[in-house]
Amino acid sequence: MKVTLVGAGPSDKGLLTLKGAQRIRSADVVLYDRYVGEEIIAMIPDAAEKISVGKTAGIHPVPQDEINHMLLEKARQGLSVVRLKGGDPFVFGRGGEELEFLAENGIPFEVVPGVTSAIAGAAYAGIPVTHRDVASSLHIITAHAKNNSAPSINYDSLVRMKGTLIFLMGLAAVKEICESLISSGMDKGMPSAIVENATTGVQRKFVGTVETLPAIARENAVESPAIIIIGNVCTLSERCDWLSGKPLFGRRVIVSRTKPETSKLSDSLRELGCYVAELLPAKIMPCTFPGSPLEGAIERIETHSWLVFTSSVGVNVFFDYFIDAGFDIRMLHHLKIACVGAETEKELGRRGVKAAYRPDEYNGAALARGLSGLVKSGERLLIARAKDGAQDLTRILTDSGIAFDDVAIYEKAPSEQTEIDICADFVAFTSSSSVEWFVQSAANADFSKIKAVCIGERTAAAAVSYGMVAYVSDQATMESIVNKIRELCM
Ligand code: SAH
Repeated sequence: MKVTLVGAGPSDKGLLTLKGAQRIRSADVVLYDRYVGEEIIAMIPDAAEKISVGKTAGIHPVPQDEINHMLLEKARQGLSVVRLKGGDPFVFGRGGEELEFLAENGIPFEVVPGVTSAIAGAAYAGIPVTHRDVASSLHIITAHAKNNSAPSINYDSLVRMKGTLIFLMGLAAVKEICESLISSGMDKGMPSAIVENATTGVQRKFVGTVETLPAIARENAVESPAIIIIGNVCTLSERCDWLSGKPLFGRRVIVSRTKPETSKLSDSLRELGCYVAELLPAKIMPCTFPGSPLEGAIERIETHSWLVFTSSVGVNVFFDYFIDAGFDIRMLHHLKIACVGAETEKELGRRGVKAAYRPDEYNGAALARGLSGLVKSGERLLIARAKDGAQDLTRILTDSGIAFDDVAIYEKAPSEQTEIDICADFVAFTSSSSVEWFVQSAANADFSKIKAVCIGERTAAAAVSYGMVAYVSDQATMESIVNKIRELCM
């Protein structure tokens, strides 16, 4: 029983501390705020409970009292609780209030500090928050007080200190902040900057003066989260800019992930300054339990002549279950195997099984048409596939008078990523199944607008079959996909 207060940093997952990552990975339950990076949220183990308590798109945040009580309740259940906050938990993060409450209630806790957006946001904009020649103090100020009231900021002292001023939660009050500084004696020409969505792939920075900043924010429709930096250090923002010159800065790529190794692809793209949105793999939930339809089908396997797979996942779920449940592999000796997709065939190969039939085209209709020419009269098919699989397959088989059992052996749950914004420069595909997964996840999208960067001809063919414009990497490696994207961006 313990609560760990973890600072998630400003967003970039690379800015999470090692200790923070370790605590997230071993949590039973994680309560997280708005502005915690998506990829950091994705690090929460599947088995852990994820609770979003921050305000997102119109949904009100969970009141602080309620958060406190949730922490208490979860800790008292003996769970390992992580309270994940953006930036550093104590920099305008109410971390102190939560710890006081836990202390009052005798709950043990620890704190893992985080990189605050105040400093990281400036660094990612090429602004060193102090500099011996320019600023010798740093002041982090909130423009937002308790109960939504305006805080009493002593502008006169701030101006007199001549340090770097960083305002958090200040966007709505940017005009007031800048005018107050000027009326307290600050030079109107004082260099100033705004960094929006700092450390994310959609970071924007704007540099002006304390006089021009409010208009800059308005004209560019700057949105939260953003930090406001006031001080001479802002003049360094071009000279010390290390980010915007990266080859893929400002580019957006979706990586359709079906395998763990694609995270390497995402990391390499990010290193080049690219914004990567990962389409996470679906959660696979096998429907294989004692008394399940699959168990029944295997017990009647001698009535089937064909075993049909439509995905590599299906192959895995089937054989894992078959072996775990203690069946004998020789029960399958009489079956002819059919499958769709090169990945599926490969997976069968890994299990020592050779497919008797695989259509060239990667879809259920092609499989059904092919099978209708191969299946002899009186032969029955066992189709082992996902629940709610495409109807084409079974419809064509029925029309051809072929008998089959369509058994749902697993379900796909969309890994909490309910919607994918397909607005991107490119979508990277590392297998034809990653194309399929993308198409399923973005079902109503206009695929003709998508530029697909594909690992090989087969993957490209899958993309083209949905109307996408496909480019093929020179070699079948992640590195080669990155190079192809770079080439296309030049
Ligand atoms: N504890 C956090 C701050 C919480 S207050 C920290 O240490 O960073 C929330 C404010 O932080 C936002 O209104 C914004 O001013 C700032 N902020 C948080 N994440 C940000 C980001 N990625 N880019 C710019 N500002 C950010």
